[in-house]
Amino acid sequence: MAQLEIIQIPVLNDNYIYLAHEPTSGATAVVDPAVAGPVLDAALKRGWTISHIINTHYHGDHTGGNLEIKQETGCTIIGSGIESDRTPGIDRHVGDGETIMIGNAGGVVFDVPGHTAGHVAYWFEDSDALFCGDTLFALGCGRLFEGSATEMWASLSKLKALPDATKIYCAHEYTQANGRFALSVEPDNTALVTRMKEIDAKRLKGISTVPSNLREERETNPFLRPDSPDLQRTIGMPGGDLVEVFAETRRLKNNF
Ligand code: ZN
Ligand code: FE
Repeated sequence: MAQLEIIQIPVLNDNYIYLAHEPTSGATAVVDPAVAGPVLDAALKRGWTISHIINTHYHGDHTGGNLEIKQETGCTIIGSGIESDRTPGIDRHVGDGETIMIGNAGGVVFDVPGHTAGHVAYWFEDSDALFCGDTLFALGCGRLFEGSATEMWASLSKLKALPDATKIYCAHEYTQANGRFALSVEPDNTALVTRMKEIDAKRLKGISTVPSNLREERETNPFLRPDSPDLQRTIGMPGGDLVEVFAETRRLKNNF
């Protein structure tokens, strides 16, 4: 199957929009357009015609550009069936296990509730690309606005099971702040210490730290590591239940 060429468009304070272009067909998807202008400009500059919008969830900083882009391009908008009434311009409602096609590139939909009740993620296996919105971040995870810790842990566990090389195309540049928290709960994680040095150096130069890959997230992201004895000890829950350790880690981050 075909591979996607993916470019990142930084907008607003810390949002990332993605253009995913499938060259054999010419199809081009926009992932989570917070705004329209920079997306239309980026596509025009490359000579790409936008055929799809893919939304991970309904929040305004992920769907704000939907209607304007659709009006300009006539594209098809794909989003969560559970959130169809709150997703502007939605055409196709998707849910867990369905496949979507961007030209000849197939992506699998995962339901990943927690941040919102109907949040979905899209995994394009042949491109090693996961578009996960506000569920999994580099060194972090989304806030639990509409779901329990049990649900979010189940969602993250699905994503955690994907291959090492999977690139994590999340929707925000939160990595440095996430990393400071991560170090507070796993100060002796040498992979994390090393990664944070690289992140600090990149941010000093204004360079994006996204995408990361799933291997490094499993090694350093505290929200994928409730089984870490080090983390459990630091937060005072040695031998704790994984969901409870995850919930406590999320609570500590909210107050960090
Ligand atoms: Zn959100
Ligand atoms: Fe967001």
